[in-house]
Amino acid sequence: MSRNATIRAEFQRFVGDKEYRRFLVVGVSSRLRFWQERLVSAFVQSAAGLSATPEEVVIALRVCEVHGDELIEGSVPGVAAEIDYAPSDEARTKFPKADSDPVGLGSGAGERAVPVWYCPSCRRLREAWLQRANYSIQRTAYGDR
Ligand SMILES: [Zn+2]
Repeated sequence: MSRNATIRAEFQRFVGDKEYRRFLVVGVSSRLRFWQERLVSAFVQSAAGLSATPEEVVIALRVCEVHGDELIEGSVPGVAAEIDYAPSDEARTKFPKADSDPVGLGSGAGERAVPVWYCPSCRRLREAWLQRANYSIQRTAYGDR
């Protein structure tokens, strides 16, 4: 087991399954929430903490809550617009950490690449889902040929 996997396993045991899942769903890609900071702090100060630093714990917890994959650093286009995504139930439950859509930086903002942390399994599932959706739309629009 890698050090990151060991830290995750100990952290999960320390906080319990429910809190562990909530922690991963909220994620650690941006700034930690106050309750997340408290859990990390309590963990590193405990005997269960493996002498890890808070930074090491945060890095270890950068995983997908559905697939357990360690997230990969990437980027998506940031565009000068307001974009308000409402993810579908399927996206939320099956590929929550795909993070492949452009990000709206607000009108008047310069366009730039925006860093993201994504799950490779989520991206694969999202691609397959999009292909199925497109196929289905084409069949509906043009009939079965
Ligand atoms: Zn995933």
